[in-house]
Amino acid sequence: MTEPVAAGDFIRDTVIRDNEQQTYAGRVQTRFPPEPNGYLHIGHAKAITVDFGIARDFGGLCNLRLDDTNPDTEDVEYVDAIVSDIEWLGYEPAQVLHASDYFPTLYEWAEHLIRTGFAYVDDQDGETISAQRGGYGRPGVESPYRTRTPEENLDLFRRMRAGEFAEGSRVLRAKIDMQHENMQMRDPVMYRIRFRHHHNTGDAWCIYPTYDWAHGQSDAIEGVTHSICTLEFDSHRPLYDWYLEHCPLPGDQPKQIEFARLELTHTVTSKRRLLTLVNDGIVSGWDDPRMPTLQGLRRRGYPAAAIRDFCRDIGTTKTNSRQSIEALEAYVRRELNRTSQRRMAVLNPLRLVITNWPVDEQGDPVVEFFPIANNPENEADGVRDVAFTGELWIEADDFAEIPPPKFFRLSPGKEVRLRGAYLVTATGVVKDEEGNVVGVEATYDPASKGGNAPKGRKVKSTMHWVSARHAVGASVALYERLFSAAYPGERTGEPLDDVDPDSLRLLEGCKVEPALAETAPGEVVQFERLGYFALDGQTPMLFHRTVGLRDEWAAIQKRQA
Ligand code: ATP
Ligand code: MG
Repeated sequence: MTEPVAAGDFIRDTVIRDNEQQTYAGRVQTRFPPEPNGYLHIGHAKAITVDFGIARDFGGLCNLRLDDTNPDTEDVEYVDAIVSDIEWLGYEPAQVLHASDYFPTLYEWAEHLIRTGFAYVDDQDGETISAQRGGYGRPGVESPYRTRTPEENLDLFRRMRAGEFAEGSRVLRAKIDMQHENMQMRDPVMYRIRFRHHHNTGDAWCIYPTYDWAHGQSDAIEGVTHSICTLEFDSHRPLYDWYLEHCPLPGDQPKQIEFARLELTHTVTSKRRLLTLVNDGIVSGWDDPRMPTLQGLRRRGYPAAAIRDFCRDIGTTKTNSRQSIEALEAYVRRELNRTSQRRMAVLNPLRLVITNWPVDEQGDPVVEFFPIANNPENEADGVRDVAFTGELWIEADDFAEIPPPKFFRLSPGKEVRLRGAYLVTATGVVKDEEGNVVGVEATYDPASKGGNAPKGRKVKSTMHWVSARHAVGASVALYERLFSAAYPGERTGEPLDDVDPDSLRLLEGCKVEPALAETAPGEVVQFERLGYFALDGQTPMLFHRTVGLRDEWAAIQKRQA
């Protein structure tokens, strides 16, 4: 596999320059600031690796800050999931903090802005304020309340906070410039009235700060030096700086740095859309193995290390683009190839009876045990003994009564290798009343013990098998892409139009070797010839296909070369 070349890292360059110039006395502090209104997804993983990675690489620290300033959409269910997902990904926040813990300071600083003439209470409704904002090349209109005195504003703001006014009847706005070429600077709203219960502050507040008012100030309160966010906040940076310059900060003024969001083909990462998938029952929940959430990927069997390596190698850039899902899968495959135990599992079982198989003194079929390597990539994983007898399960696809051209697997008269055991030759077909093939008869060659072809004999296929007597039942979930289109929504504008309704196929009645009953919940194993499969964390003997064995990414790169 060719590795993607790591793109240049302008964020690390900025940190290095700040350290050289002693901008923050050599201090490096970042934060990861999710809004607890949904589960973390693969895009957040990128942000986490950047935020935590930079702090670690420069001997600094990174806090988790729950950006919980909007009581309408947030929930403590999400807070718990966020904390555990970060830990799973392999990072440990220096502290877990809440933006809502700063409500008192934000309030004080808002009064400070009012007193210094930089904020005012506006009695107009949201629609009017929006309309007055104007647009690019269109002038803004100043609110008739813009010239209120600091005393009047202070009185009204305190009464807003005391709950004297109805929702939507007043807001606090920063007094900047209604003709500014950047719309964010046209007297942005700082506080709205909301009589809502907040998951952290309860009913203590009925005014809530906007994102822009809360974010930079929270950074400054915590001592953040580099506030890394995604490109869509680029136009907010002047406002970020303006607020900081006008507040009585306890220390250094942090700087905001933006990078491109991670997007993947065949995937959506908008939390709103993911919520719709859950609410509309298109998936079974946030942890459905088809979801790009960290919980979904984890349940699917994606190793955290593969996600981290992928995020590192794609680099950090200033241009939005989509990464191939196949590239991520290549990382998953590479990691699992190294770590996973090999097992045999038959997904669509067909009975194979060896007619010349010996019986013992009691007349029972002989059982032989063959040592098979657990992981050829890691000798230390050793071998396991796999039971072999005269009745086996093989994959229905591995047999054809009338073989099509180039079919090298089992068919009448053909000889194949049963992995690690013997060579067998098909001699007959068993059919039910309707003429369906329900079994195969074969003979084995005792001279081929261990699966070795006697000298001069060529055997084109090696097939997996499970002893019928020893087999354990299992269910296997096969997944296709949840979105069939590489760029969901490109066709109609609505990504959900590209959902593949048949992206899950559940196979029941699979037959797997007994060692698989010892698999730990969540463990990923390789089913030989079939792919990587993760045992579900809750449902016994349900395996999710993590990814197939074929490296589609290598094929795509070859085609492009
Ligand atoms: P959504 O738009 O899906 O709601 P968001 O950007 O609002 O996502 P937050 O929880 O507010 O999500 O984001 C937390 C942090 O993760 C922010 O710094 C944000 O910039 C970053 N982030 C979110 N999505 C991505 C992504 N696709 N790629 C990189 N970083 C992301
Ligand atoms: Mg958001």
